[in-house]
Amino acid sequence: MRILVFNAGSSSLKFGVFELLPGESLAQAQQIYKGSFDRFSPEGCDFRDGACLRRAPHRTLSEAIRAVPAAISGADGLMAIGHRIAHGGDAFAGPAQITPDIRSQIETLTPLAPLHNPANLEALDLACEIWPDLPQWAVFDTSFHLTNPARATTYAVPAAWREEGLRRYGFHGTSHKYVAQRAAEELGQELRNLRVLSLHLGNGASACAVAFGQSIDSSMGMTPLEGLVMGTRSGDVDPGLFGYLERSLGLGIAEIEATLYSESGLKGLTGSSDMRDVESRAAEGDADAQLAIHIYAYRARKYIGAYAAAMGGLDALVFTGGIGENSPSMRRRICDGLEFMGLKLDHDRNLAADLSGRAAPQIQAYGARVNVLVTETAEQLMIAHEVASAIGAPAKAPLRVPVAVSARHVHLCPRAVEALFGKGYELTPDKPLRQKGHWAARERVTLHGPKGEIENVAILGPLRDRTQIEISRTDSFALGVDAPVRQSGNLDGTPHIRLIGPAGQYDTDGLILAARHIHMNSNDAERWGLRDGDTVDVTLDQDTRGLTFTGVLIRVAENAHTEMHIDTDEANAAGIRGDVEGALGPDVVHAQA
Ligand code: ADP
Repeated sequence: MRILVFNAGSSSLKFGVFELLPGESLAQAQQIYKGSFDRFSPEGCDFRDGACLRRAPHRTLSEAIRAVPAAISGADGLMAIGHRIAHGGDAFAGPAQITPDIRSQIETLTPLAPLHNPANLEALDLACEIWPDLPQWAVFDTSFHLTNPARATTYAVPAAWREEGLRRYGFHGTSHKYVAQRAAEELGQELRNLRVLSLHLGNGASACAVAFGQSIDSSMGMTPLEGLVMGTRSGDVDPGLFGYLERSLGLGIAEIEATLYSESGLKGLTGSSDMRDVESRAAEGDADAQLAIHIYAYRARKYIGAYAAAMGGLDALVFTGGIGENSPSMRRRICDGLEFMGLKLDHDRNLAADLSGRAAPQIQAYGARVNVLVTETAEQLMIAHEVASAIGAPAKAPLRVPVAVSARHVHLCPRAVEALFGKGYELTPDKPLRQKGHWAARERVTLHGPKGEIENVAILGPLRDRTQIEISRTDSFALGVDAPVRQSGNLDGTPHIRLIGPAGQYDTDGLILAARHIHMNSNDAERWGLRDGDTVDVTLDQDTRGLTFTGVLIRVAENAHTEMHIDTDEANAAGIRGDVEGALGPDVVHAQA
C-alpha cells in the first residue's frame, strides 16, 4: 500500500512516500521518496529532493505544497494521504479519516497548539484540493498519550477550569511510539515487557515514559510549551511569572505567551535556537552558551530521574530528534551522574553511533543495567504505518472508555421540587457533572420505603418532566421495594416511593436500577461504528475482582462526554477504586433500525 505523508510546520514542510506491505516490520518498510522544503523567505526556500539539496522559488508553505505533485511525480499509485496533526485533544485515540466534521474538530483545537495545528490544517486543505479522490487521514501527536493515567494528566486547578478541558496531553506521540518500538526490536524484546524512556530532542523536545508498551507520562502538557528546554520554547517555568511580569514590566498575557513560545529556550539563553551554534560557541568559551548547555542537559536529566521513578525502574533510554541523534556531547552530559541508577554510557560507542539505515545502536557501557540507544525518529514512516493499519483493520483496535460510578440519586420534576422544598423554590446547582450542563444540587432528599429510609440522597439537575429515582439493588432491599432495571426515562409501570424534603413529601413512581450504559459523543460513536441503542460487553480488568459487564447500552448524544456509568453494587462487585477504564469487547449487538 503506497501512502504519501505530510508533516507541515510554520517554516518547513517534510513529506515522503512509503510502500507498506501487510505484516511487515517497521524496519522493513520502504521509503520511495523523501523531500522537504525549509526556511521559507521572500527569496525562496531550501529544497531537499531525495539526497540532493538545492534552492527552490517557493516562498510560503502553500506554494511548497503545490509543488509536491511535481516532486513525487515518479511515485504513482497512491492509496491514501496521512497528515501529522499536532493536537487531537482527548477525542482521537488513533488515526481519523478526514470528514468535514473531523476537520472542524481539529480546527477547534487550534488554541491549544497555535503554532502547529494551523500549518497542519493548511497542508490538509490543500492536499484535499490537489488529490480530491484520495482518502486523507489525520494522525495525531497526542493519541499515544491518551493512555496516561489521570494522576499524570490532571493539573491541580479548580474543577471549573478542568471542565473547560484544561489537562495535560503530551505531544511527539508518533515519534515516541516509533522509537520505543524500534528500541524493543533492537533489544530483541517485547515492548510490553520493558520500561522505556524516550527523549525526543529536536527544535521541539519532550520526554516520554513508556511503561510496558503504554505511554504513562510525557513532559509536554496541555500545549507543546511545558517540559524540556527547546529551541525557542522555555519548557517548565513558574506560572507565577505571568503576574510578576505584568506588574513589573507591564507585559500582557499574549506577549508573555508569545515570548515563551518563540523567544525563549536556547534562543532566549544564547540568541540562537540552533544547538549546533550553541555548541560551537560554547567550545569557543562563550559563557552564555556553556550555561545554556548545562541547563538543557540538567532539565533532561531531571526528567529521566522523574520518569524512572514514575515507572518504578528503567530498562532502556532512547535518544532521538536532531540533537538526540547528532550530539554525542549532549547525550553524555544528560547521562552524566546517573551511574547510581545503573545508567552509564560507553564513551567510544557514544561517539561512533551510526544511525544510517534506521539503525538503533546501543551506547551503554558494557555491563550497565540500563540500555541506552540512539535512533533516528521516523515520524513519517510511523504515520504511514498507522494509516495503513487503520485502512487495513478499521475499528477493531480495543476501545477503552473511562468508567464512572453513579451513587444513588434522584432527578426531580418541577412539581416534586415544590412539594419537597416549597412553592417557587429553585434548586442550587453545586457541583458541575462531567456531562455538559448537568449538575449536583446542594439540596438533598430522603427516600422512604415500606422497610426503611435512605437519607441524604443527591439531586441531579437540570429538572426533568418526570421524576426518576436511581438506586442500587442493595438500596432496594433496604427500602423494601423491588425496583426493575430500566433505561433512564423508561418509567412506565415502575414502583412508587415516597420522597421527603424539608417542606413536605412527594409520592411518585419512577424508582429504577439504572441499566448500565455508556454515554458517547457522536464523533466517538461514528469512529467506533456504534449507534444509539447498541449494546456491548465491557471488561473491567481490576486486580483480582475484574469482571465483564454484558449488555452495556450505548447512549449517543452529540456533545456527550464519553463515559460508562455503573451503580455502586456493580462497582463494588468489580473491586473498583478510583479512576478506571473499561475495554469494549469486539462484539456489538446493534439496535433495531
Ligand atoms: P525538528 O524538531 O524541527 O524536526 P530536528 O529534529 O531536526 O528539529 O532538530 C533540530 C535541532 O537539532 C537543532 O537544534 C539542531 O541544531 C540540532 N542538530 C542537528 N544536527 C546537530 C549536530 N550535529 N549537533 C548538535 N545539534 C544538532
